[in-house]
Amino acid sequence: MPRLAPVPHRLRHALVAALVALLVPASALAIAGNGKLQIHHIKVGQGDGALLISPNGQTALFDDGVYTDCGVIKSYLQGLGITVVDYHFCSHYHADHLGCIDDLAAVGITIGTAGYDRGSSYSSASYTSYVNTLGSKRLTMTKGQIVTLDAGSADPVQLKCVDLNGAGVYSPSGSDENAKSLAMLVSYGSFQEEISGDLTGDPASGNDVETTVGPEVGDIEVYKAHHHGSRYSTNDNWLTSTTPEVCIISCGDGNSYGHPTTDALNRLHAHNVKTYWTETGAGATPNPTWDTVANGTIVIQADPGPTQGYTVSGPGFSHSYVNGGGTPPPPPIHTTEFPSSLTMLKGSLATGDVTRLAVSDDSRIGVSAGLSGGKYYTDWYASVFLLHPPLNMTVTSENSFTVSRTQTLYVWNWTTAAWVQVNSATVGTTDVTNTWSTTSPADYVGPSREVRFRVKGNNRNSTYTSRGDFMQFEYDYTSGTAPAMLADGAQGGTDAVFAEAASAGATHRHADDAALDGSLPGAPGHDVVTIDRERQAALTPQAALRGLVAAPAEEGVRLSWTVGVNDHVDGFNIYRETADRALVFAGNESGLEVTGDEVEFRFTDAGAPARATYWLGVRSCSGSEALIGPIQVEATARSTAGLALRVGPNPAITAASFEFALEQDADVTLEVFDLQGRHVATPLAGRQPAGPVHAGWDLHRADDGSIEPGVYFARLRALGRTLYSRLTVVAR
Ligand SMILES: [Zn+2]
Ligand SMILES: [Zn+2]
Repeated sequence: MPRLAPVPHRLRHALVAALVALLVPASALAIAGNGKLQIHHIKVGQGDGALLISPNGQTALFDDGVYTDCGVIKSYLQGLGITVVDYHFCSHYHADHLGCIDDLAAVGITIGTAGYDRGSSYSSASYTSYVNTLGSKRLTMTKGQIVTLDAGSADPVQLKCVDLNGAGVYSPSGSDENAKSLAMLVSYGSFQEEISGDLTGDPASGNDVETTVGPEVGDIEVYKAHHHGSRYSTNDNWLTSTTPEVCIISCGDGNSYGHPTTDALNRLHAHNVKTYWTETGAGATPNPTWDTVANGTIVIQADPGPTQGYTVSGPGFSHSYVNGGGTPPPPPIHTTEFPSSLTMLKGSLATGDVTRLAVSDDSRIGVSAGLSGGKYYTDWYASVFLLHPPLNMTVTSENSFTVSRTQTLYVWNWTTAAWVQVNSATVGTTDVTNTWSTTSPADYVGPSREVRFRVKGNNRNSTYTSRGDFMQFEYDYTSGTAPAMLADGAQGGTDAVFAEAASAGATHRHADDAALDGSLPGAPGHDVVTIDRERQAALTPQAALRGLVAAPAEEGVRLSWTVGVNDHVDGFNIYRETADRALVFAGNESGLEVTGDEVEFRFTDAGAPARATYWLGVRSCSGSEALIGPIQVEATARSTAGLALRVGPNPAITAASFEFALEQDADVTLEVFDLQGRHVATPLAGRQPAGPVHAGWDLHRADDGSIEPGVYFARLRALGRTLYSRLTVVAR
């Protein structure tokens, strides 16, 4: 709920700041210890990194940026003349949050007093660097712990860990690292900001931590958006509990997740929250009424008094807001909705459709009785997917039968998973109206806000028809609660994900094969397949892989692979397959190099046997790990030249071709696999002479069937090496 709309340039200093912001880079705005609380949300790309400077000049970092892109945060801190940061708070162990602490140390920017995190450990190269960099400064945060800055001053700054490690609602041993994020509350008198990394709020995933942490946090002024504006965070309960006026979204241009999402923004707007984005990102289009894209670092400068306020500034803008308490909630809004689907439990829909139930008397549906054990009866229910969370509910239903029947009415209780009888009476050929009300509707509203109302006629020896004339669902809702995600609810199903147990604790996950790289345009004049890019990126992280080369090297076997700089993944596990086909963890990526828009990762297995088989585990930030392989290498194969596989056109529409060069005659296998690792085609197999090799593929399966648009991998085996190259196929 809004306390006050922004008051641009109300204060003289705001005007000055705005003018300065127009003239100079954001970094020059900041003067350490300028008497205000400063929180600099640094433009770190697709990650988080915020620098707090207390009024007296003490400093804290809340996360430190993305491991692939440390240049901005380094130069930003250097630009402020900072060489020691007093405190470091690591929200969680994903590489887009702790990726640059070693890079900062390398240029002489160190942590002075302590680096706090959630404890436990994690397996990634970035995490290992983080731990090694902090050394003995690393401390585990506990729930309720407060770090005080400017102690002894009239207005100290308190940094409080409100909760952590899943807040008792998500298991600390669960695989979703985001759910374990530290919930940090920054307090400076009447000003509060909450910073919690990638905290989650999606009940359907079982990781709704926000709903529990929200009341613990209470009213805040500024909210650093959880998880870069993911649709699975920033839920309505969170916003209702914390009532922020301003939300800062840290996201990167072109990110593969589609952050920030329209869903999260719709909820923020419905709760009257203005948003500021460090970059445009790759999801929702900013709405100029609500959203400001800074394309730069966003600086909060706050005063502590209850009638004072804070500014939100970035390149070319400075907006003022006032600290304050909430306003009384507005009166509930009354609304009416009508059924949107019909389900037959017995009988069949003979006339009409679900829309007729919204029109009293003029039209109706007819349900013919179905036969069961020699008896005829009708039994059907209508569903509505409520647009808002109801505070109460009244269902009105009007029905009749072609012959007099005992009609029994039910409503579905989602908590007990049982029908609850709400009426039973004799009903003849004349319409009878029934109403059912509740002031505690929670049990009757499903996860997608579905409500089911059922009409049953009793058994009879000959057939008859149940006539549904009218049904409506009336309720009150709180102003500002956002519409439900109807698309999710209407689909009703879960992702077609399956997991296979693999040894070494690796989980092998796949998503359905309709995946299509959402960043690619469809062919001209054809439909673009709409998919949930965020969910796809989380569940099929291997789709980020552009290419992989595994080859013998002087020091053993060397694997190198590339992903786009924006195709962010959390990290990699390398497994070696044993003779009895178990997978043994061999290590994480041991190095990376950013070149242009590509990141190359490397791993060397010094202890490789003569013939080694590897699997590469690609981890997404949601904890999923997908394996790609088998990757076979003959360590004894000697070849002086490298082997490179070129694929084009990519994306392909009607055909693809493959090119590589052999330095000597060799047996070659070139195959295509889908994201699930299923064999699709073999464009080339057999002995090939030395020299350039070309193979074509018509995008058909070996059995001649055409393939679905989506992500595929070509795999070349030759000269003791294995190469993978991604091929995206778009609809023709
Ligand atoms: Zn993140
Ligand atoms: Zn994360």
